[in-house]
Amino acid sequence: MKKVVKFGGSSLADAKQFKKVAAIIQADESRVYVVPSAPGKRYDGDTKVTDMLLKAYDMASKGEDITGQVALIKDRYDEIIKGLELKDFSLDADFEEITKMLQEDPQKDYTASRGEYLNGKIMAAYIGYEFIDADEVIFFNEEGNLNTYKTERVLSRRLAETPKAVVPGFYGHGKDGNVKTFSRGGSDVTGSVVAQAGKVDIYENWTDVSGFLVADPRIVKNPATIKYITYRELRELSYMGASVLHEDAIFPVRYSGIPINIRNTNRPEDKGTWIVESTGQKSDFVITGVAGKKGFCTMLITKAMMNSEIGFGRRVLQALEDSDISFEHMPSGIDTMTVVVHEDEFLHKEQQVISTIHRLAKPDHIEISSDLALIAVVGRAMKSAKGTAMRLFTALAMADVNVRMIDQGSSELNIIIGVKNADFEKAIRAIYDGFCK
Ligand code: ASP
Repeated sequence: MKKVVKFGGSSLADAKQFKKVAAIIQADESRVYVVPSAPGKRYDGDTKVTDMLLKAYDMASKGEDITGQVALIKDRYDEIIKGLELKDFSLDADFEEITKMLQEDPQKDYTASRGEYLNGKIMAAYIGYEFIDADEVIFFNEEGNLNTYKTERVLSRRLAETPKAVVPGFYGHGKDGNVKTFSRGGSDVTGSVVAQAGKVDIYENWTDVSGFLVADPRIVKNPATIKYITYRELRELSYMGASVLHEDAIFPVRYSGIPINIRNTNRPEDKGTWIVESTGQKSDFVITGVAGKKGFCTMLITKAMMNSEIGFGRRVLQALEDSDISFEHMPSGIDTMTVVVHEDEFLHKEQQVISTIHRLAKPDHIEISSDLALIAVVGRAMKSAKGTAMRLFTALAMADVNVRMIDQGSSELNIIIGVKNADFEKAIRAIYDGFCK
């Protein structure tokens, strides 16, 4: 059994957290590959090291003096090194190099990546694992995306000859030869890539919560934790704004069928959430989770005999494509079609879209309404449970929420409903209470 363990920034924010992490790694022989983030916030209002580095880069690119800012960053690391009592270990030479680079040729991604790089070096020294610089084993292509083929080839060979290694998260080698980072939170992606290339059995992702919650805790008080969730359910929920994991982190492991276990560094005894390809495990409730987003618009397009006009839908979508707008949902009736779009992408182009639809598809009428929130009720158990829709709409009706749109795909993995922005929180609470209490 082999595991990759990725630790988020709050799990490595100071020496105390580092010690918890080391204890977790040492408690299980199979935790052979470690992917650390940069030190995160130690308390509310604190600054993540990645943000401190980005500030140093901004200052350097404006030609300002960065020595004070670099000293603050170095203090964070020196405090960790001292707290861990790491003898004969220092990052002085690394900081000299970083300062020189910032002064002579500031590069944003390189600067941002140093948070993980330095934390990785400390981690490797502390637990006695080999340090593998991600710049040597993770590659990006010309478009700035992960070069899966090359990464898999180089990284798997390297891991095969390294029984225990620390690979810092968040960055790799850009096509131009310089260090390149993933988008923010990208150490999750590194963890997933290392899991795939290292052919491990489990990807443990350690953070500061005990897994995914059924609903957003800012809306629902003390929501239950999800024990098992499939990759597909997770995609639906994270697309709707539920976030614990970087969106791109799912793909590499998904293709190799490696489960992800979200765990809490501060409560290692909690089992957390398992993200799996498929499971026979019963969930506690009919729904796995509920999440949503505000800020959508609908465009109701009416045309008599639309149902028999071949190519009507394509022409409407062509108009959206011409205006560079993506659509979210498209429920339709006999003579109507509704297109749901993002308000901020759409509103400043609405008249252009209307006139293009008129030109291409010649509808009778187009009506736009805004202020729509979408809520996804997601659950693999829904397709075999009777009365799910009744429970959902009864709960909403009892809470006095007017449902303005319903969309259920035939996969029956989710039901999407549209409500007024102002009803959003009330609707989420009603759905949670209706299914989980
Ligand atoms: N340190 C980076 C960030 O703050 C990457 C990560 O933590 O995953 O976004």
